[in-house]
This record gives sequence, C-alpha cells and structure tokens, in this order.
Amino acid sequence: MSTPTPEVYEQGKGMDAHNKVMREVRSRNDASYDPREPTRVWLDEDNTPDGVYQSLTIILNTGGCRWARAGGCTMCGYVAESVDGGSVAHEDLMAQIQYCLDHEDEEADEKAGLIKIYTSGSFLDEREVGAETRRAIAETFADRDRIVVESLPDFVDREKVAEFVDAGLETDIAVGLETATDRVRRDCVNKYFDFSDFEDAAAQAQAAGGGVKAYLLMKPPFLTESEAIEDMQRSVRKCADVEGCHTVSMNPCNVQRYTMVEELFHDQGYRPPWLWSVCEVLESTADEDVIVVSDPVGHGSDRGPHNCGECDDRAQRAIKDFDLRQDPSVFEQVTCDCEATWDAVVEREASYSLPLAR
Ligand code: SF4
Ligand SMILES: [Zn+2]
Repeated sequence: MSTPTPEVYEQGKGMDAHNKVMREVRSRNDASYDPREPTRVWLDEDNTPDGVYQSLTIILNTGGCRWARAGGCTMCGYVAESVDGGSVAHEDLMAQIQYCLDHEDEEADEKAGLIKIYTSGSFLDEREVGAETRRAIAETFADRDRIVVESLPDFVDREKVAEFVDAGLETDIAVGLETATDRVRRDCVNKYFDFSDFEDAAAQAQAAGGGVKAYLLMKPPFLTESEAIEDMQRSVRKCADVEGCHTVSMNPCNVQRYTMVEELFHDQGYRPPWLWSVCEVLESTADEDVIVVSDPVGHGSDRGPHNCGECDDRAQRAIKDFDLRQDPSVFEQVTCDCEATWDAVVEREASYSLPLAR
C-alpha cells in the first residue's frame, strides 16, 4: 500500500468522507426497537484462560455507539438495531437484564459461569450505561465466575474495571481493536483510535486485576485476500505481546445491512474472506502464547465468510473445534478441491481486481 499524505485526512477526504457516506447509508433505516428488550441473547460455550465455560451472551440495547452516530465503521450494522433517541433509562436496561436471566432460566439447566455483555458500542461509556446501572449489573452477576464487557479503549479505566473485580468476578474487557495495523484500522475500517490506545486500555484493565480480549476483523473492505491474511497474522502476534491480553477473537467480516461494506458488496466490490483464510491464520499463529478463537457469522452464505458451498460446514466445524481445543491439527482433516481456487486468489488478487472470485 502507498504511504498516506496529510491531505487525505482533510475535510471531505479520508475519514471525513467515510463518515459522510456512512451517515447517508444508515439514514435509510427506519426500523425501531423496544428499549426493554435486549438486541439479542443466547447460550453457548467459550474458551477462557480458566478452561471452557458455559456462557450467557447478552447484546444490550443501549442506544448505540457514539462513533456510529458520527458515521462509524465501514462494516458495522449494529447501530441500525439500536433504539431511537440515543440513550436508554436505568430501569429499561435492568429490564433487559431480567429478560436475559429469564431466558437463561428457561433454556439452561444451570447458571452460566461466564457472562458476556456487548452493547453495540461501549458498555463502559457512561452515556450508554450509567454508573448506577453498571454497578447494579456487577452485583447481579456477582455469583458467576467470569464476565466480559465490551468497550472502546477510551472508556476503559481502572476504577470501572475494579467494580467487577471487587464483586469477585474474573473480568475481561473486550476491545474491538479490529487490527494491529493503524493504517488499516483508519482507512479500511474507519476506526479512530491507535494500537497504543489499546495497549493503554490493557494496562488499565490489568492494574485493576482484569484482562483484555482483542477482537480482530479479518478482511475489511479494500484489502486483498492475501493482505487480509497477513494483516491478521501480524495482528495476532502483536496482541500476544501485549501484557494483559490473553485472548484474541479473530472474526471474518460479514456483510451487514446499512453499511459501506454492503454498498460495495452490491456493486460487486467486496467479497467476505474465504473460510480457508480463517483456518490459515488460526493454524499459523497457534504457536503464539495467546488463546485465539474465531466465530464466523453467516458462514457459507454470500454475505458471510465462505468457500465453495460444498465444504463450508466442514471448515466451520474445524474452526469451532480449534476454538475449544487450540489444536492446529484439526485443519489437516478438512480438504476440498476449492483450495486450489483459494490458492490462486491468495496469489493473484490485487487491489485493482477486487474481488477476483466470488
Ligand atoms: S464497530 Fe464498534 S466502534 Fe465501530 S461503529 Fe460499530 S459499535 Fe461503533
Ligand atoms: Zn470447497
């Protein structure tokens, strides 16, 4: 890639231009949502530094991310699912938590040891979740073992993290780092912070007795398949070197509604990554001293990461297997003729010919 000049960040260009396009795309959405219901809730199992846990994952509807309101990231459709008005009252947020507890009661035999709370924004941003609500949530889940809450790095501070640690929870902050490469984060994802901000957030979490979990995004728009693979390999390694970062969740980009990625996809300018690329990154970074997991959303579909259609389920199974066992040999057991096409794409796709194959 070429080196950017200062002018690309001027008004009307670069980030400013990205934000303008995204505000226009998002304004086409007119759905509205109930503030007393979470965006989503589900039960699953997850790998943590203390082993595999039953987990309850909650997507709280908090009014959405500040950055998304300004335009936001090129692939993020979450703000389209947020309630109107930009903030949700304490009582309503607690009603959402109760809804999730009821769901758990109905669906699971026992309480999950791990709670994961995402907000499609930042749980630690007090404009989304006020201090009163944050403390009430820490208390509600004090009988569990671990908690993960999502936040952009700016809002991570030692005191807030300590509220969860002091409630007796192993606490992790999930940060949507997307990539360790600042240039890719700015120009392809349109995210405003730097890798050094992530390092600072990890230091704050660690000072409180917590840790961080880095969320990486494989193949934002404008990268070739091979650039996307290299970007992720480099990013996993850099994250593994950050003190306090014990887990990386490396997730392939999918095409969400009301996003710039969707515009490109409709104009045949974007293809989500191959599942083979996900396998390649997991396999080649398995020697790093960090847990690396991946949860490809919409696998096998045009809008999600996919191979040829024949082998997608098998590749996905190998990835999920790797998530729990961290054993790279799981990838030796899955093969398909389409690997030859993927090889050719990795070798030949160039930025002027994206995507080479759909
Ligand atoms: S990816 Fe995160 S920071 Fe970016 S717009 Fe979406 S919620 Fe906001
Ligand atoms: Zn195949």
